[in-house]
Amino acid sequence: MLPVEEALEIVLAHAPRLAAEAVELKDAPGRVLAEDVRADADMPPFDRSAMDGYAVRAADVAGAPLVLPVAGQIRAGQYPDRPLPPHAAVQVMTGAPVPAGATAVVPVEHTRAVDGGARVEILGPAVTGAHIARRGCEVSAGDVVLEAGRSIDPAAVAVLAAVGKARPAVGRRPTVSVLVTGDELVDVWEAPGRGRIRNSNGYAVMAQAAAAGAVVRSLGVAPDQRDRIAEAVREGFASDVLVISGGVSAGAFDLVEEVLARFDVGLLFTKVAIKPGAPLVFGRRGDKLVFGLPGNPVSAQVTFDVFVRAALLRMQGARVVSRPVVEVLLQDALANRSGRANYLPVRIRVQDGRLVAGRVRTAGSADVVAHAAANGLVVLDAARIQAEAGEKARALLLGNFLDRDGLA
Ligand code: AMP
Ligand code: MG
Repeated sequence: MLPVEEALEIVLAHAPRLAAEAVELKDAPGRVLAEDVRADADMPPFDRSAMDGYAVRAADVAGAPLVLPVAGQIRAGQYPDRPLPPHAAVQVMTGAPVPAGATAVVPVEHTRAVDGGARVEILGPAVTGAHIARRGCEVSAGDVVLEAGRSIDPAAVAVLAAVGKARPAVGRRPTVSVLVTGDELVDVWEAPGRGRIRNSNGYAVMAQAAAAGAVVRSLGVAPDQRDRIAEAVREGFASDVLVISGGVSAGAFDLVEEVLARFDVGLLFTKVAIKPGAPLVFGRRGDKLVFGLPGNPVSAQVTFDVFVRAALLRMQGARVVSRPVVEVLLQDALANRSGRANYLPVRIRVQDGRLVAGRVRTAGSADVVAHAAANGLVVLDAARIQAEAGEKARALLLGNFLDRDGLA
């Protein structure tokens, strides 16, 4: 069986990089930036007051308290047409350019208006440079302010707006078709008859694909019949990525591999040393990718997270494609007799400044409730059969880490 790292390398090596497209800034959040973005001008573009107050020469107020004549007022949006006269102050507002010659801004709280504002008392001396953001102190024109491969979060949106990138180049969103297989499955609104269960994977996998930036399409549920699966698979190849859940293990009705062979899909692996998981099919047909995920609901979610999510992000050009990995202190003993890398559900929280992971009781790879209660997965390598409470371990932070009061 293929180790997880090798399988992931194969997936990433075969994930085609999709073309870039320009989008409007308002549509950019969540997309992956496809270009290095440079500042079009110095930031700030002029010497800017950081306070409401008075622009002065620091040397002029060294002997404060003292009174200076007020030589004018500059509001945000105005531009001073003459320098600061000697031994005078100019009233400035936050965000206004300070006049040439000014070396400090004295905040209004440290002043007192005299003669109805014609003069101002400066209550104390000012340090040179105080409350003035010099032109270019943040970045210079031409500096790279955002690098290609970064996912566009609100902070990046602010930068794009500040440098005038009205239509940033981003990676195209991959289209993903999701096919679920299994005679036992009924849809969410149906009452499962005897021996039947609800299709949870279809919805979970579509949600995961959407969260990874994909444009998602459902191919519905196919029964365990070659022709019905083949019909759906054919449609699925219209998308960049086809994700199939179920029918990839060794049972008499696990038909997915056989059907993929009909379509000349080049299978790159069919088993990975991962728990939950193991049966996991990855193949390629031209520039289309196919994943056959195990039907067990937690296996499907975990293998999606580790492999499919990474592929979808890489196709968009993302630099970081894996979940954050942290070192945690185990609160409970954990066992791994699977001979595979074992991903165990835990709740991670901060205790005395350390990340501590407590096990989430789970009945196994069908237990979606336990998986939903976890905010991380401790990874015990194949060789690590037992981990004791108090030992350290590697853990993946799940997407919900902050929501599930992980840091509370
Ligand atoms: P399979 O991989 O098809 O052998 O399925 C493994 C297990 O996962 C079986 O118990 C199935 O009933 C279950 N399963 C398969 N597909 C789904 C699904 N879409 N939603 C919930 N459970 C599923
Ligand atoms: Mg099945």
